[in-house]
Amino acid sequence: MSLNRKKSRIIVIGANFAGLTAVSKLCKSHDVTVIDAKQDFQWTPNIHEILSDVKKETSLSLNLDTIITRLGHRFINQTVSSIDGALQTVTLDDEQILNYDVLLIASGHSRSNYGIKGASEYAYGFRTADDVVKIHNDIEALLDNNKYPVNINIIGGGFTGVEVLGELLRKYATNKKLKFNVIDRAERLVQALPEKLSDDILRQCKNYQVSFHFNKKITEVKSCSIHFDDKESIETDLTIWSAGTKLPDYLDGIDTQATSNGLAVNTYLQTKEFSSVFVAGDSATLPNSLPKQASIALDMGLHAATNINRFCAKRSLKPLKAQTKPIILSLGDINTYFIQGQLVLASPVLATAKEAVYQFYMARLSALLPLEQRVLGIAERMIISTEKLLLVEILKLRPRVLLGRSKVL
Ligand SMILES: Cc1cc2nc3c(=O)[nH]c(=O)nc-3n(C[C@H](O)[C@H](O)[C@H](O)COP(=O)(O)OP(=O)(O)OC[C@H]3O[C@@H](n4cnc5c(N)ncnc54)[C@H](O)[C@@H]3O)c2cc1C
Repeated sequence: MSLNRKKSRIIVIGANFAGLTAVSKLCKSHDVTVIDAKQDFQWTPNIHEILSDVKKETSLSLNLDTIITRLGHRFINQTVSSIDGALQTVTLDDEQILNYDVLLIASGHSRSNYGIKGASEYAYGFRTADDVVKIHNDIEALLDNNKYPVNINIIGGGFTGVEVLGELLRKYATNKKLKFNVIDRAERLVQALPEKLSDDILRQCKNYQVSFHFNKKITEVKSCSIHFDDKESIETDLTIWSAGTKLPDYLDGIDTQATSNGLAVNTYLQTKEFSSVFVAGDSATLPNSLPKQASIALDMGLHAATNINRFCAKRSLKPLKAQTKPIILSLGDINTYFIQGQLVLASPVLATAKEAVYQFYMARLSALLPLEQRVLGIAERMIISTEKLLLVEILKLRPRVLLGRSKVL
């Protein structure tokens, strides 16, 4: 590796939470190339709200080319097909090979089907705004065709599965044509979070057209049915896959320690095998593993940039002081939960906190857009939020409902 060259060649793979934050903090004196398969940054934590029309795809996206060019760096809108840590190269889908001095892997996680037959063909993923728009349009088409009942199955009762269910109930609770099933291998919802949260969500959903199926191992997904290892099956008109994630396929061949959870890194966010390869966000697994959260990816991205700048300047690196963060989980307009360790607070008012986090970060990330686009973006996001979420929620909130649903679990 030659860091004596005037400019260090830095490649960043992935420009969402971790990657874009890092890119915004890399020194302008480097030769920085940013690669992402998507054209836009996407605020993933709120994509489920597209299902209920509370958000539009455009209000969750920021154009990457504009932001990265204004930062003085180069953006390539392509998919990376492989990397070679020893040769220090990145290969793109069009077979172009790029050389780097320092690489930052910030490509998150992708959908995992656990090798289940038919899952990739017949179940929708839930990773990007595009996935959600397709689901939204297909549900509307099923309803237009007067199908009765319409069976919607959510595979995976984790964080994402619960938020998906909440948005579907926000929009369709009064439409009795629709029946929802939530299916999970585990014995309850949100396995990684306290059991009392699962209990409360199940209690809140009792009066809706939802059935929960726990301890169910799926063997096959077909276009009209889902099959289990106990030989039972369930009818489906639309199947949503929110069951699991893994590292993107292009990292399969990488010569570093990896698990399905992430690439092993030290506290400087470097891989053990290649000191010039840094990893941040969902793709990274620290010695003390952290949850896969946007807020943690933002911190890691910032830290990776600090250390890459120091690495190029041949200065000592700084360890990341990893911190867990609270989680805000929404169950549509039924309730919102704040979770930190074993503490779980529930209140419809917390929906405004989740919305504030989204508004704040989108405004901050869009600071690099031209003024007109920035102002229009902020205005659009505020108008949609006020009209579709805040006003609706405030008008619904009678003191008794509010008090009844606000509690420490
Ligand atoms: C539906 C949903 C709801 C969520 N809700 C919350 C929440 O409420 N709170 C919270 O904190 N977290 C939430 N998360 C988790 C959060 O979104 C992730 O932790 C966060 O996105 C991780 O950021 P990242 O930058 O590491 O990866 P990502 O945001 O996944 O970004 C990875 C980027 O890499 C790009 N990429 C991947 N592979 C390639 C390739 N081969 N070539 C080029 N580019 C590639 C992708 O296009 C993407 O832009 C949610 C996630 C989902 C899916």
